[in-house]
Amino acid sequence: MIKVGIDAGGTLIKIAVMEKETTDYRKFPVSELKQAASWINGMKNAQICITGGKAALLASYLDTAPAEIVEFEASSSGVRYLLARNAMSQTEFVFTNVGTGTSIHHLENGGHRRVGGTGVGGGTIMGLSRLLTGITDYETIVSMAAKGMRDRIDLKVSHIYEGAEPPIPGDLTASNFGNLMSLHAEEQLSREDLLASVIGLVGETVATTSVLAAGQCGMSTIVFIGSSFIGNDLLKQVVERYTELRGAQARFLENGEYCGAIGALLSLA
Ligand code: ADP
Ligand code: MG
Repeated sequence: MIKVGIDAGGTLIKIAVMEKETTDYRKFPVSELKQAASWINGMKNAQICITGGKAALLASYLDTAPAEIVEFEASSSGVRYLLARNAMSQTEFVFTNVGTGTSIHHLENGGHRRVGGTGVGGGTIMGLSRLLTGITDYETIVSMAAKGMRDRIDLKVSHIYEGAEPPIPGDLTASNFGNLMSLHAEEQLSREDLLASVIGLVGETVATTSVLAAGQCGMSTIVFIGSSFIGNDLLKQVVERYTELRGAQARFLENGEYCGAIGALLSLA
């Protein structure tokens, strides 16, 4: 018997397939929802559970009606599973899912609770990148951003204090994109620089919001998941550094983008 867990989100359809002891992962863009459905229909004797905002739509293309699970329950159980597999023993923590948008959850022994979120997320990376550079391909955006410099675009606390001792770490961003007004007319910004600043804006917002939410729950460990971290070391670095600057610890999970799909799969009997 094959077990299939599906997390059909706003941008990507994530699929986890377990046969005997091995789990395989696969993703499709939502624009290829029908192709995803026929790929799933091609697996005979499969037990399927589905979650995510596009679950009902995808299910309508499947040959047999799948089981359904609430998204936050699925992602929580997927996070616990991956933590255990990576020998991380946290039982109580906050996790932040940086998907198209960002949502933040508190997991305790007894259960879980959504504690907040922000509309700034992976979709913001895609949208602002397109607006500023015309580029729409995720991998291109991420690899170009890694070569960019943010210092002429973003205003740091140390820029404002100009050598004087600032009351907060000078390395914190005082204003994302706030340095542009002092740019001289003849100065050119590269697309790499703009993309790096977009990732900076998203990473810092996500980290700051998560640390504040974690503080309200009395937590200082934050597990970050979601497809926005795929191949995106720059976003990981920004999030890790900003989380630490603000006094908490960031953790990333291998295959963390599949937490929802894994949780859906695990809910199958
Ligand atoms: P959702 O569950 O809302 O679909 P995900 O966790 O799958 O969200 O994250 C979606 C984000 O992941 C996108 O907004 C983008 O920043 C990033 N991403 C990673 N890989 C891709 C890809 N191949 N195509 C588009 N976006 C991608
Ligand atoms: Mg999602």
